Amino acid sequence: MSYTFDPAPVVTLPVVGSDLLFPVRRIFCVGRNYAEHTKEMGGDPDTETPMFFMKPAESLVAAGGSIPYPGATTDLHHEVELVVALRSGGSNISPEQAGGHIFGYATGVDLTRRDLQKICKDKRHPWDVAKGFENSAPCSSITPQTSDLLSGTSSISLRVNNEVRQQATLGDMIWSVEHIIYHLSRLFELRSGDIIMTGTPAGVGAIKSGDDVTCSIEGLSDLKFQLT
Ligand code: MN
Repeated sequence: MSYTFDPAPVVTLPVVGSDLLFPVRRIFCVGRNYAEHTKEMGGDPDTETPMFFMKPAESLVAAGGSIPYPGATTDLHHEVELVVALRSGGSNISPEQAGGHIFGYATGVDLTRRDLQKICKDKRHPWDVAKGFENSAPCSSITPQTSDLLSGTSSISLRVNNEVRQQATLGDMIWSVEHIIYHLSRLFELRSGDIIMTGTPAGVGAIKSGDDVTCSIEGLSDLKFQLT
């Protein structure tokens, strides 16, 4: 048997210090994981479980570069996020077990059509059109996990044309990476190749054609891209 047409290529991310490519399966995203960002969006940070949504794997832009300004929006926002890449998965993973499923970490941006997201929120519609469009998930190379790679004091930041827009530490996250994996694995059977965008700190805002965006998480590869 052969295919009716050529299947889509496997989406991959480079691995720092290796010739191997990490094959991406699904992109899970966490909403409202930093209290100050939740407040700037008009929400209440005191919620009991994380809020999840997804992007298609094909929305990934490996290692940044040039990204075309998307259609259907006049208010494209940046959201810098720690990205977790899973080497293995399962259901009902405990926080204590979670670290053993992590392959490594990367620096990513959850590009958001904020104007469409506002309409979705007002109409109680799903967020797909605001979050899951092509090129909406630029992501750096993955740095393999080591015991001292990241800590609560590791900085996370995003600059637009060299001006700092977002600046926080990973310790500002409401749900830790381990607790995100714990909650997510109760909703989905996690698999090798799944990646998780873990939410953004305060300071989100609009970017426009010609802007240079640089994202840094202490210990990981920078992510740089330009909107065209
Ligand atoms: Mn986000």
